[in-house]
Amino acid sequence: MGDLIFANYGYCHCCEQAVRFTAADSWFRDHYICSKCGSIPRERALSWTIEKFFPAWRQATIHESSPIPRGASEKLRQHCDNYITSQYFSGVGSGTEYQGWRCEDLENLSFADNSIDLHISQDVMEHVFSPDRVFREIARTLRPGGMHIFTVPLVNKAGASEVSAERDEKGEIRHLLEPEYHGNPVSDQGALVTRRWGYDICEYIFRSSGLFTQIIHLDALEWGIRAEFIEVLVTMKPMAENNGSDSVPETAKPPKSTTGNPFNWLKKRFKK
Ligand SMILES: [Zn+2]
Repeated sequence: MGDLIFANYGYCHCCEQAVRFTAADSWFRDHYICSKCGSIPRERALSWTIEKFFPAWRQATIHESSPIPRGASEKLRQHCDNYITSQYFSGVGSGTEYQGWRCEDLENLSFADNSIDLHISQDVMEHVFSPDRVFREIARTLRPGGMHIFTVPLVNKAGASEVSAERDEKGEIRHLLEPEYHGNPVSDQGALVTRRWGYDICEYIFRSSGLFTQIIHLDALEWGIRAEFIEVLVTMKPMAENNGSDSVPETAKPPKSTTGNPFNWLKKRFKK
């Protein structure tokens, strides 16, 4: 680790304690780190947002797509009894177990309608090929009153979202912009960026799923939250309308996590 260029004391919303935040590089998004839990700013912003918008998360049924073994994911794993994690593996069907993980294709989730309180994703939505289908699947599987709370880099602040890669009729990838890859914990090839999102993502989600989304932007050094592209998005599924009867809206039984704790396996991959 190089010399520190910035450090301060504060409170970390991932590990919930007084900590020191340090940065050895000016790109705070990846390098402004909690001394106790190793989290980065967008993970702390996500944890704050979950706590504020869905304070009953500890008792909720939560599904996180592509979690990582630290920060917000680790907090959910420790404190939520029905925290279901999944990864996407090309060619593996949703709901099946693969390499110790439950596989879930976000475009075709195996969860029942109205069965999930909270969907969580961190920097995933810029890698999916059919985000309209993904947002529809999330809306379908959320319970009334449920939310999708997620981070996604909104890199097109001054313009419309751009499609940077798509699949043609044969399923082959067609690049519309210079290919860009992000790290992928379950693939050495990395994850291809398919969308360069702008603020119009909220309109896109509404057109796809009918759900409203708000963008939370935090800038709070005392919580170690300062960096580029750390917006947290909250998509809400409305509570069922009161139709005059006392009947509770029908929701499915919560799915149970079946794959145990795949984090140890993931931790090994991270050490490489
Ligand atoms: Zn921490």
